[in-house]
Formats: sequence, structure tokens, C-alpha cells
Amino acid sequence: MKTLTLSETETMAAKFRYDNGLSQSEPINAKMLIRKLNVTLVYRPLSESSYGISCKSATGKMFMLINSQSTRGRQHFTIAHELYHLFFDENPVPHMCCGGPAKGEEKNANRFASALLMPKEGVLSCVSGEEIAAHDVDIATVLRMEHLFGVSHSTLLIRLKDLGLITVARYEALGRLSVKETAREWGYGSALYEPGNNGVVIGDFGEKARRLFESGKISEGHYNELMNMLYGGAGEED
Ligand SMILES: [Zn+2]
Repeated sequence: MKTLTLSETETMAAKFRYDNGLSQSEPINAKMLIRKLNVTLVYRPLSESSYGISCKSATGKMFMLINSQSTRGRQHFTIAHELYHLFFDENPVPHMCCGGPAKGEEKNANRFASALLMPKEGVLSCVSGEEIAAHDVDIATVLRMEHLFGVSHSTLLIRLKDLGLITVARYEALGRLSVKETAREWGYGSALYEPGNNGVVIGDFGEKARRLFESGKISEGHYNELMNMLYGGAGEED
């Protein structure tokens, strides 16, 4: 499987933004995008090392399962990673996407997710000329970007390093910070760095089940069973 270059994945992400009516700099609201693309998304607890899985049916219906035990920032990245599998993967075979060293399509999906969530133009609009000249982005700018783009500390730092905005030494120094504590010191909450969305379901599954019931194609018992299966203990979106 061919590993795409950074520049190729940047172009794919830019095209994906264009096709979905998004500018080349604005932050993405993943849940709204998922609704627009008509993907069914379910948040459920998975093992710690698993981030998510996606698949497409023969009729083109798309489904995504995201680990509700991951932090919200990580979940956001995983959704963008899975969008690569659903829209660009040359050989989409459902598989659990996990952490660890990535190669082939996994690496492509990570690079695409990074470029999609943190577009170069959007990142550049957040940093000052002095920061660019010094290859040293201030912690206040880093935290502001994490919250603007909804990504984890480590994901943002990798992007800044890949764009040449911070040196390796600065990347390592920022990576050593306790991000939750630092965020608090700078006036941010810790929600982005914590798990969430457990039990949340996004999609038209409920509408489909209701239509089947109302047209007499399934019994009330079957309808209730379907709704309980998916929405039983459904959580609030956060
Ligand atoms: Zn993957």
C-alpha cells in the first residue's frame, strides 16, 4: 500500500474541505460534518488501545464506532482518520484503528486527519510573525489552537513540527508539559483532554426504525428492541 506524502494528503484534505463547503482555514465541527455526510456515528467504550472503526455497506451506507474512553481531542482526530478510510482508502477493509507506529493507509489516514482538522491556512492565522521567525510558538498560542481546532496537545505539536513552525527541541519541551494543569493556568477547562460522549449516537437510525414501524414493516416490539439496542442508556452530546 502506497504511503502518501505530506503534500499529497494536504491536497486531499483541501479538496475534501472544498467538496463539503468548508473554507481552507475554519475549524471543523466533526458532529455537524458527520450529519451532513450521513454517516451513522456511535460512541461506545472500547479497550484503551482502540480508537475506532468504520465501514461502508454495499449500498454506500457509512458507519463509524468511536471509543468513548478516548479523550474528546483524540475522538475528533479519530473521526477525521476514519473519514479517510471511508472516502479515500484504496482497499477499505473494516479494522480497528489503534495507536502505535502507523504505516501504509494508517499513516495516510493520520496525515489526512491532521491536515483536515488543522489546515495550514488556519494554523498560520493563529501564529504571529515573530513566532514564525523564531520557530517557537508560545504556550498561549498552542492552547488557543488546541481549543480552536478541538485536538489533543500531542496532535497539535506534531502538526506544528510538520509545518516547520517549531523546532524539535521546542516540540519536545512543549510535549513534556502537563497539559491539563497548564490549560487550567491559562484559563481553559480540561474537557478536551478527558473522555466524553459515552452512549451518544448520531445518524438517521432512529428515523429509519420509526418509518419501518409506522409502515407496518416491523412490530412495535421489534421497534422498541431496535431503539433500546442503539439508544439504551444514550448519553448527552458533549
Ligand atoms: Zn485506520
